[in-house]
Amino acid sequence: MDGIDWKNLGFSYLKTDYNIRCHFRDGQWGELEVSSSEHVDVHIAATALHYGQSAFEGLKAFRGRDGLVRIFRCEENAKRMALSCQGILMAEFPVKRFREAVRRVLQLNARFIPPYESGASLYIRPLLFGTGANIGVKAATEYLFLVLVTPVGPYFKEGFKPVDLVIFRQYDRAAPLGTGNIKIAGNYAASLVAGHRAHQEGYAAVLYLDPKEKKYLDEGGPANFFGIKNNSYVTPCSQTILPSITNNSLMKLAEDAGMRVERRQIPVEELGTFEEVGICGTAAVISPVKRIYDHDLQKEYRFCPDGEAGPLSRNLYHRLRAIQYGDEADPLGWVEVLEGI
Ligand SMILES: *Cc1c(COP(=O)(O)O)cnc(C)c1O
Repeated sequence: MDGIDWKNLGFSYLKTDYNIRCHFRDGQWGELEVSSSEHVDVHIAATALHYGQSAFEGLKAFRGRDGLVRIFRCEENAKRMALSCQGILMAEFPVKRFREAVRRVLQLNARFIPPYESGASLYIRPLLFGTGANIGVKAATEYLFLVLVTPVGPYFKEGFKPVDLVIFRQYDRAAPLGTGNIKIAGNYAASLVAGHRAHQEGYAAVLYLDPKEKKYLDEGGPANFFGIKNNSYVTPCSQTILPSITNNSLMKLAEDAGMRVERRQIPVEELGTFEEVGICGTAAVISPVKRIYDHDLQKEYRFCPDGEAGPLSRNLYHRLRAIQYGDEADPLGWVEVLEGI
């Protein structure tokens, strides 16, 4: 498309042509509606604004070398959004209609799906929030589901380049039995101060510890943590982390590549034993980690001795990207091909 520098896209909002909306009123979801407006008109007492009844998702569509558009694991996002809704008492959006809304928004904004060669993709952001008015603290009776899209380059400016993380014990993003395991707006508000401080001090993200004991690794800001050693892919098992679909996919690819996969508690000190460390999520797939600084204990852990991602992380990254762009077979049925756009 004219005017978009596909190769130099960042991870920021760029206006596209349309978004899809659906209202929940009188106990049911209405029809999918197409909108060209970038705004919503919400009641001043909407529960999303006052009490944080708001959940979102993030997934991507890719244009392949063959020109076809592929959506990656959309059904998993639909199911996860339903769990998020259950977690904060919102009306659930049906999985089938979620998938339909995503296909629809892609068809309508096909000209914003970046060309294969650019390495960019179209980020899809479903959002569901309480629009009904309440001054007392209770769940809304009206909701809006919407899906917007925006073309994005790699999430981290450096692309597949190693980043630094920092551990701060004075901040948590989630409470032990709270909402860390669902993808809701409030978790992000709770992480802004720590994230801002990390960025100011030159780190890509905060590496959170489990909020109860502060003994085990949880996750890296908006991305799950993994470490690799002795041909094992090790990732935290914790109630306070968000179950990343990227991490789930990497675990399957690791197994397929003959690695062991361990989901378990990872004590902070174990950081010293990993050969490779990374954080993973839809936005960047994998960001290899070259240094983790434990701010409170003034201790540092270093990885990537030659300044590059390790070989096993690199292999997992390339395998996942190849499936997403359709360069390699998709044995686990993760990709949905959209014909004719
Ligand atoms: C969305 C998210 C992730 C990554 O999940 P993906 O499904 O891989 O994109 C990780 N951590 C948090 C806190 C998140 O919100």
